[in-house]
Amino acid sequence: MSLTGLGRRVGLLSLFLAAEVFAQSPPAQVAAASHSGLDLSAIDKSADPCNDFYQYACGNWIKNNAIPADESSWGTFNQLYERNQNALRDILQDSAANQNRSPVDQKIGGFYQSCMNEEGIQQRGTEPLQSELERIRHVSNQQELVDEASRLQDRGVAVFFEFNATPDPNDARMTIANLDQGGLGLPERDFYFRSDEKSQEIRKKYVAHIAKMFELIGVPADDASKKADGIMKLETALAKGSLDVTARRDPQKLVHEMPASDLKQLAPNFNFDQFFVQLHSPEFAKLNVSVPDFFKDFNTLVADTGIDTLRDYMTGHYLTASASKLTKAFVDENFDFYGRTLSGTKELRPRWKRCVAATDQALGEALGKKFVEKTFGEEGKERTLEMVHEIEHQMAEDIQSIKWMSPTTKQQAMVKLHAVSNKIGYPDKWRDYSSVDIADNDYFGNWYRSLEFEVKRELNKIGKPVDRGEWGMTPPTVNAYYEPTENNINFPAGILQPPFYSNQADDAVNYGAIGVVIGHELTHGFDDEGRQFDADGNLKDWWQKQDEEQFNKLADCIVNEYGSFSPVSGVELNGKLTLGENTADNGGLRLAYMALLEDLAKKSTPVTQKQDGYTQAQQFFLGFAQVWCESTRPEEARTLAQTDPHSPGKFRTNGVVSNVPQFSKAFGCKAGDKMYAAHACRVW
Ligand SMILES: [Zn+2]
Repeated sequence: MSLTGLGRRVGLLSLFLAAEVFAQSPPAQVAAASHSGLDLSAIDKSADPCNDFYQYACGNWIKNNAIPADESSWGTFNQLYERNQNALRDILQDSAANQNRSPVDQKIGGFYQSCMNEEGIQQRGTEPLQSELERIRHVSNQQELVDEASRLQDRGVAVFFEFNATPDPNDARMTIANLDQGGLGLPERDFYFRSDEKSQEIRKKYVAHIAKMFELIGVPADDASKKADGIMKLETALAKGSLDVTARRDPQKLVHEMPASDLKQLAPNFNFDQFFVQLHSPEFAKLNVSVPDFFKDFNTLVADTGIDTLRDYMTGHYLTASASKLTKAFVDENFDFYGRTLSGTKELRPRWKRCVAATDQALGEALGKKFVEKTFGEEGKERTLEMVHEIEHQMAEDIQSIKWMSPTTKQQAMVKLHAVSNKIGYPDKWRDYSSVDIADNDYFGNWYRSLEFEVKRELNKIGKPVDRGEWGMTPPTVNAYYEPTENNINFPAGILQPPFYSNQADDAVNYGAIGVVIGHELTHGFDDEGRQFDADGNLKDWWQKQDEEQFNKLADCIVNEYGSFSPVSGVELNGKLTLGENTADNGGLRLAYMALLEDLAKKSTPVTQKQDGYTQAQQFFLGFAQVWCESTRPEEARTLAQTDPHSPGKFRTNGVVSNVPQFSKAFGCKAGDKMYAAHACRVW
């Protein structure tokens, strides 16, 4: 799935977390039986909720749940994902073992089986790589370079830059072609330029890692090291023309529509016409170039860099893309840098977890359909939808009542709110993978054929209407997202389970958990990024100037607040990078709390009524906080602070409750307490 910067899906947590960080088996503490649905065993009663609410709500959970050796962080999300993952393994093992397999079983069972066949993979060695490496070796001029770059991109290896399909920013119902920056091996631009000691060390290890990858295909150490230096130099030059993660949150910075013929002026040294033809892209007359400066730099680079280095670069990226599908030596080397160095993870996850994840990535909706049939309850869907409507109603009340917004802008905001659509659980129409050839004994080939299918599927959208029924996450995913270009919120089946939602839990806890998630996604439509899109998903300014100024002033309060939080010694959160998510957390909690109050009023239940020793209000805040119980390794915390638009769980919790007077009231906090809302930030 391509994720264009423009119309970036904004999820509850980074997909990176949900997709890459998988759970180690049990030690998870079983939640102590409670009537409310709260995890009472997680609570640290020795902590003062008014001083550090996160410690109070999660302290014992953190103490009792060490991070498994094969994880970079460990939290409530992982525990739930682990449950989903076990269900997925059962499905895949059944599909693999079934003698009279249905076509879908043949695909997912065959894929999983081919991945689990480590012995077969080991025996094949580097053989699966050879034909492509041979092609790259034969590249001797610009024309052959374009051909090979398009061939690699066709197989999902995005060398030099990204090419994909995206909703037209000016006409979001239609899809256009999109060229974007890309081609880096480190997580993002600034990793190439930070001058602190730790960052320099990461770069050194990265270069050593590339060299080792070349050694694994038989290149002598000296030569491999020279190649790695050349690749690093080239990537650094690509990074120079790239925007950093924070700048990329501003959709206006990523919109530059132009006639396709203009590419000849922008980057005359790279024959894009030939590239598109080789890639079998549909023809198009105009496209969006997200970062034109990047392509100016690329144009110079492609002419000035020796063909040897360009070949090495393509080889290096092909090896990285292939590593996890190859022998143990490749898998281990890849893990050593991306797992150990960047995230601090001690051990590789067990093979079956990696294979479940790979099947989810490659054939997600075939596997997801079975997952839904097996695990998803319709009553959860109905209740979630009901809560969505209640929370939308609260957003309407909120918009009407805020003082800083003019009636004209309010009217537009209401139009946008009423146009939000909701998708819950799974797609109405499942993706058809019948054209992907899956062989039981060819993991490498299965992987690249599934990528080719995905690239083709994506590019075929160019010039066609956007299919808003399509999902950007697979059903077992423990996450949710708002899609600004479609103005819809999406809740995969995977998240509609405890501790987010339970039929058995008290409503107060459900509102604090899944209710806040719903409010969070809805608020994304009105955060600093989402607010720039209109009701139909077009990037169109519907704000009066003075309202925009007011919004920015209120948002700055959140930028400064979260910018002062430090997740690991010497590192502070980037208040601007995390602004959208923090705005969504703060707004989402308020909306869910208002919805709870209305629900309680309807049932004539007093807010002070207790269950498990906690009032309704206290249960709500605890339900919210316990979703975020987690521990993170310092290496991972540092990498996330530099790349992730989401704040860590501790600050998602304490940052929000210290902005909400209702929290202080619920727990009796007083002026001077750390969680007391004295200088509360509030946008929505
Ligand atoms: Zn979010």
